[in-house]
Amino acid sequence: TPVIAWLRRDLRLTDNPALRAACAGGGPVIPVFIHDDSVAALGAAAKWRLGLSVAALARDLEARGSRLILRRGDARDVIPALVAETGAGAVHWSRLYDPDAIARDGAIKAALKEGGIVAESHNAHLLFEPWTVETGSGGFYKVYSPMWRAVKDREVPEPAPAPARIPAPEAWPASDALEDWRMGAAMDRGAAVCLPHQCVGEQAAQGRLGAFMAGTIDGYRDARNNPAVAGTSNLSENLTYGEISPRQCWHAGLRALHEGKRGAEHWLRELVWREFAYHLMYHTPEILTRNWRAGWDAFPWTEGCAADVLRWKQGRTGIPFVDAAMREMYVTGRMHNRARMNVASYLTKHMMVHWRVGMDWFAECLTDWDPASNAMGWQWTAGCGPDAAPYFRVFNPETQLAKFDPEGGYARAWIAEAQARPPQTALSYFEAVPRRWGLSPGDPYPAPLVGLAEGRKRALAAYEAREF
Ligand code: FAD
Repeated sequence: TPVIAWLRRDLRLTDNPALRAACAGGGPVIPVFIHDDSVAALGAAAKWRLGLSVAALARDLEARGSRLILRRGDARDVIPALVAETGAGAVHWSRLYDPDAIARDGAIKAALKEGGIVAESHNAHLLFEPWTVETGSGGFYKVYSPMWRAVKDREVPEPAPAPARIPAPEAWPASDALEDWRMGAAMDRGAAVCLPHQCVGEQAAQGRLGAFMAGTIDGYRDARNNPAVAGTSNLSENLTYGEISPRQCWHAGLRALHEGKRGAEHWLRELVWREFAYHLMYHTPEILTRNWRAGWDAFPWTEGCAADVLRWKQGRTGIPFVDAAMREMYVTGRMHNRARMNVASYLTKHMMVHWRVGMDWFAECLTDWDPASNAMGWQWTAGCGPDAAPYFRVFNPETQLAKFDPEGGYARAWIAEAQARPPQTALSYFEAVPRRWGLSPGDPYPAPLVGLAEGRKRALAAYEAREF
């Protein structure tokens, strides 16, 4: 009997426990990807980038004599229908941890089991399942450092190779054509501007990890803070779609540590920040939508004036670090971590706009968008999240830029205005933006939307007047 491997955020052949389990019995395997509501709800950049990842996986499967069957609809209907159609006896998938996915997958598992079908979920997306890491008193970690200490020496299974064989069924069930899904429909700038900045698919992700381990990781500890240098791995994009597994990253990091690479421990710590975000989302799913510390509900954040929020989105606040970062994200689908903290701080503190506004724009523009890390990052910076930066620590994007990019390369790379010969990166922003924004590289660079001293003073006054 055939077995279905339902692939979602594990778009790879190696270290893919669901695919391995599906192949284990030696019977025909039907890999399937479903375009459901969770895909429909993605932001423009993430949906476009997911489409590239699905295409890459389909090619990899075809090279192994298999296929990726594409179906559209509610997985609660699609999976049982595919089981009935193919006579499959089992369905395997890798777990997801956001509340909608948990509810959906639980319902599917129960329905399949009731029908006598084997339904098994596996761990492919995390190093440590959220229910396996507990504090001394039995709860989950709400602070990062003790969680790091609790997990850093844990045994993490070695990544598994790709299945030796992915047996094909005699006849393939029908599949949608990926082009018909038009995953890039909302992403005008995708192919023209954003594509060269993506590193798509499993082989590319492995190449990226290999290059990082062979070079950059040694200086990671310092270089990771400079937004103008390629000092980090950029693997968030690949981890998001599961083009690489966290176990593959972890073990590569451990090898680097044993080889004495100086940045290795720091990099492993960052992988645990990702775990921390997932554990928080699992145990407190309200982190995705509400102030994690409910006391902050009284804080006078606003939705912001539409024109001002648009200027923040466009990278036209008149604050070079903020603007360079917002443009980097619009063009490449990524933003440097230090820049993320600065733009988030400027929006939520200097502009006093609710973190949800910024979180939603990131979800629209990031190709490494991740529900857990994005929500945690915004709430951390805004001050209302777990283990958050104290609210009174208002990032000063001017001194931050001077400290972390003393050569000024980041602003030059992304802000064309007032440069006699702007680099292609800065110009590509103007190719990327919609015409209705009416922007041109010859425009004068705007004066600050909110001055740094003035904004800081206002934010601190609101914080001090709070009643929570
Ligand atoms: P590296 O420095 O090479 O780190 C290795 C890996 O560790 C990353 O790929 C990532 O998976 C993980 N990691 C590193 N830093 C963090 C962190 N602070 N939180 C969680 N995981 C981390 N990350 C996303 O993947 N998706 C998001 O949507 C996202 N939104 C963010 C929003 C805000 C406001 C902030 C402050 C941070 C956000 N981050 C997000 C976290 C972080 O900025 C990115 O993970 C990091 O910039 C990715 O670059 P890299 O792959 O080169 O990381």
